[in-house]
Amino acid sequence: MIHQYNVNEQGYYGEYGGAYIPEILFNNVEQLKNNYLQIMESDSFKKEFDELLKNYVGRPTPLYHAKNLSAQFNTNIFLKREDLNHTGAHKINNALGQILLAKRLGKKRIIAETGAGQHGVATATACALMNLECIIYMGEVDIERQAPNVARIKLLGATVVPALSGSKTLKDATNEAIRDWINNTDTTHYIIGSVVGPHPYPDMVARFQSVISHEMKSQLLQQVGKENPDYVIACVGGGSNAAGAFYHYLNNEEVQLIGVEASGKGIDTGHTAATLTIGKPGIIHGSKTYLMQNDDGQITEPYSISAGLDYPGIGPIHSFLHDIKRANYMHVTDAEAMAAVVNLTQKEGIIPALESAHALAALHKIHFKSTDTVVVNLSGRGDKDLTTYINYLNENDYAKQN
Ligand SMILES: *Cc1c(COP(=O)(O)O)cnc(C)c1O
Repeated sequence: MIHQYNVNEQGYYGEYGGAYIPEILFNNVEQLKNNYLQIMESDSFKKEFDELLKNYVGRPTPLYHAKNLSAQFNTNIFLKREDLNHTGAHKINNALGQILLAKRLGKKRIIAETGAGQHGVATATACALMNLECIIYMGEVDIERQAPNVARIKLLGATVVPALSGSKTLKDATNEAIRDWINNTDTTHYIIGSVVGPHPYPDMVARFQSVISHEMKSQLLQQVGKENPDYVIACVGGGSNAAGAFYHYLNNEEVQLIGVEASGKGIDTGHTAATLTIGKPGIIHGSKTYLMQNDDGQITEPYSISAGLDYPGIGPIHSFLHDIKRANYMHVTDAEAMAAVVNLTQKEGIIPALESAHALAALHKIHFKSTDTVVVNLSGRGDKDLTTYINYLNENDYAKQN
């Protein structure tokens, strides 16, 4: 049976996705929906976006054959080095793409919400470059927890607005951002940082991130003589780096796609973010998808040591790929991810982001053949996680493991 993996005209992947939004947001979302493909496919957009990706972001990012890691797992492991992007992760691909789109829609003002601050930094960076007003909504609690990113956002010239309601975290910041958008429809574009939210955001963000698998194909052809690996492995928070790494392989059924969620302290502990494992379909942030909820349908608080992965939902494309079994989704604990951080750092001299370490930890859970070609998407670098690593270092024996 041939599956249609891309979003359909109504914004659905199978039964997931759609645009479940209040009436008052209809015009904002409709304008995007009616224009995003035409703009993204225009020559002028492509030229400007490609040039920025090349000379500002530093693309193509290398595809690095990790020989020591390959020897450890007795297979052939390649790292797609999204950690080498400007600002240290894949998020800049999407932030720049949406800003170029917003400019072509005549918007003068950019808003976004951020939890850990990474999406806020990417957005504020792109706004500085394009000289656009930038407002970042952030929960008051997160502002305290993520002081270095708040400093970066402010230094970049953006305004940080604290969300003071509810638990004063990401979902409250989201509410404030939506309120702003409703009140400033004509002037303002709302940048969502992952493949989540109402249609067309999941598809738009997946397309901006698809540069990852586009590059992987030609790099693999050059390095191993074939475009298709046996496995592509990526961590999943909302799912944008995974969607980008999977995108151009969706129709190549021989490529095994592996998404890795954060199980936190364990899937049965109540401190987890493994949405596809413990969640059920419902509506969150304007789309139908798996989400973590209690018996009354209330969204439950996610937990992961990694701030970029503790999201209670997941992009609708992943709910679909999970149900039809085109991709397999695994989960990795805090401790397994930390061990993978130490392992990659000491084996290859690369300090990964905690999020990316979840993808690396999955290498232990798959039985590879010695002839397999395996690509791990290294979504970001570990500088931002150094405090977490130092604390771990103080509590554990960090001696070289081999
Ligand atoms: C934000 C982030 C993630 C999680 O977001 P996705 O949309 O799932 O990709 C993963 N890795 C890094 C480095 C991040 O900053």
